[in-house]
Amino acid sequence: MPSTKYIFVTGGVTSSLGKGIISASLATLLQSRGYSVTIQKLDPYINVDPGTLNPYEHGECFVTNDGAETDLDLGHYERFLNRPTSQANNVTTGRIYKSVIEKERRGDYLGKTVQVIPHITDEIKNRIQILGNTGEFEIVITEIGGTVGDIEALPYIESVRQLRWELGEDCIVIHLTLVPFLAATGELKTKPTQHSVKALQESGVQPDILVCRSEQPIGEEIKRKLALFCNVKKEAVIESIDAETIYAVPILMRNQHLDEVVLRRLGLPIEDNLDLVNWRDFLYKLRYPTTEVEIGLIGKYVELHDSYKSIAESFIHAGAANECKVNINWIHSENITAETAHKYLKNLDGILVAPGFGERGFDGKIETIRHARENNIPFLGVCLGMQAAVIEFARNVLKWKDANSTEMNPKTKHPVIDIMEDQKKITDKGGTMRLGACDCELKEGSKAYETYRRKNISERHRHRFEFNNKYLKEFEDKGMLATGINPDMGLVEIVELEDHPWFVGVQFHPEYKSTVANPHPLFVKFVEAAVKKASK
Ligand code: GLN
Repeated sequence: MPSTKYIFVTGGVTSSLGKGIISASLATLLQSRGYSVTIQKLDPYINVDPGTLNPYEHGECFVTNDGAETDLDLGHYERFLNRPTSQANNVTTGRIYKSVIEKERRGDYLGKTVQVIPHITDEIKNRIQILGNTGEFEIVITEIGGTVGDIEALPYIESVRQLRWELGEDCIVIHLTLVPFLAATGELKTKPTQHSVKALQESGVQPDILVCRSEQPIGEEIKRKLALFCNVKKEAVIESIDAETIYAVPILMRNQHLDEVVLRRLGLPIEDNLDLVNWRDFLYKLRYPTTEVEIGLIGKYVELHDSYKSIAESFIHAGAANECKVNINWIHSENITAETAHKYLKNLDGILVAPGFGERGFDGKIETIRHARENNIPFLGVCLGMQAAVIEFARNVLKWKDANSTEMNPKTKHPVIDIMEDQKKITDKGGTMRLGACDCELKEGSKAYETYRRKNISERHRHRFEFNNKYLKEFEDKGMLATGINPDMGLVEIVELEDHPWFVGVQFHPEYKSTVANPHPLFVKFVEAAVKKASK
C-alpha cells in the first residue's frame, strides 16, 4: 500500500480563523474524490483533555464513540465527513507531557536527561502518525491549534519541521492567515500574512499553500504579491472569503481548486470523479427553506453559542431535512421563573433544554419544562434536560415537591435522579462518568421507535447521574414512559409523555451524532413537530 500522506494546517495572525472548518472542508473535497481521509487536532494547552474545561473557555466538549472528551473541532470533522473520530484524533500538550513523564518514571529513557527536543517532539511525532499507521487512511490532516509564534505551539511546529524532512514529498503544510481590510484606506493588507509566514520560516517550515481569510475578494494582484513574498506558487494562494454558512466552505474551496493544488503537491492522481451532488443538495435546502420555526435553546451558557455547538449544528441539519429554517432563540435559564416563563417562551414552536452540570439556572429549566408540558409545545430534553424533565414531572404531576437529582440536593427524600453505582459498575471501569457509546433498546409503538424506526440504537453519553428505577412504576402510571432502556444495565435512556404532541427526554447526547449526510432522527422529528405546531 502506498505511504500515507500528511497535511498540516497551521494558523497565523490571529486565532479563530477557522482552521477546523478549512481542514474539514478540504477533507470533504478529498473524500468526495474517493480518498479515505481523517483529521486530527493537536491542542497546545496543558489540560490532559478538555473534559474538565468550563465551556466558556473553549466551547463545547465533544464526545467520541470511544468516550474521549475532545475539542469541538472534532464535531466539525464528523459532521463534514460522516465518519466517527476517536481519542486518537485529539491530543493536547498535557497528554503528551503526561505520557512522557510516565515513561520517564518507568525508566524507559534509560537515565537520559528528558528534554523538549527530542523527547516531547518524538512523542508528538508518534501521535501524529498513529492514525496514518493504522493503514486505514490515505491522507491524514493534522490541525495545529493556536497561532504560529505562540510559545506553546513551538514544539508542534518543530515536530512539523522534523516530519517534513523525514516524510519529504508525502507531506505538505497549509498556512491559514488573515488578510484584513482597512476601511479607512479601502485596502486589503498583506503585511500580517507576510509576517506570520516569516515566523513559520524562522522555525524552519515553509508553507506550500496559503489560505487567506478575508471579508472581501482578495484579487489577482494580492495573490501575486503574497506568492512573491511568501515563496508559494500563485495557484497556491487561496482566498477564503466569509461564507453565509460553514457548509458552503467546501464549495468555495473547490471553486479555488484547493483540492487539486493539494493533490498535485502530494503527487496524487486527480481524476474526474469529484462527487458533491448530495452536498450541494443539502446547501440548496439550507438556502431555500419553505417554512420557518422558532426553537428555544434553554441553557446556562447561552452567551457563548460555541458551548452548544453540536446542538446548533444538529438543528441546521434537521432544518435542511425538513426544508425549514430553524431560528434558535438563545435563552438563559437563569431568566426563567414561573412569572417570566410566558414572556420568554410564548413565541416558541419548540423548546430544547440543554445539557449541563450543577445548580445554576436549574430552576429556570424546570419552569421551562413545565411551560412546554402544560402548553403542548414540542420538547426535547438532552441529558440534564432529560433529568430536569423527570424532576419537573415528579414535582408537578406526582406532587413530590422536593423531588430532585442528588447532584442538586443530596438530601432530597425523592432522589428521582441519582448515582446508580450498582448498575453502572457492571460496565464502567474506574471513571465516574458514563462516557461514549452505549446501546439502547426502544419500545415498539413509542415516539422514540417511530423516530428511529428500529429497535436497537447506540448513542453517546457524558454524565454521572441516572433515572432512579425505584420510581419507574409511579412515573409510568401517570404518563411519563421509559421508552429507551440500556439492555446491559437496565438504565432508563429515554422518557416521553403519553399525552403530549411531542415530549421526549434523552439521557444521551444525540447532537454528537448528527452529520450533513445523516441528520439525527431525533432532531429531524423534533423540528417536524415544531413545524406542525407553527402551522396551527
Ligand atoms: N449533570 C448531569 C449528570 O452528570 C448531566 C450531565 C450532562 O448534561 N451532560 O448526570
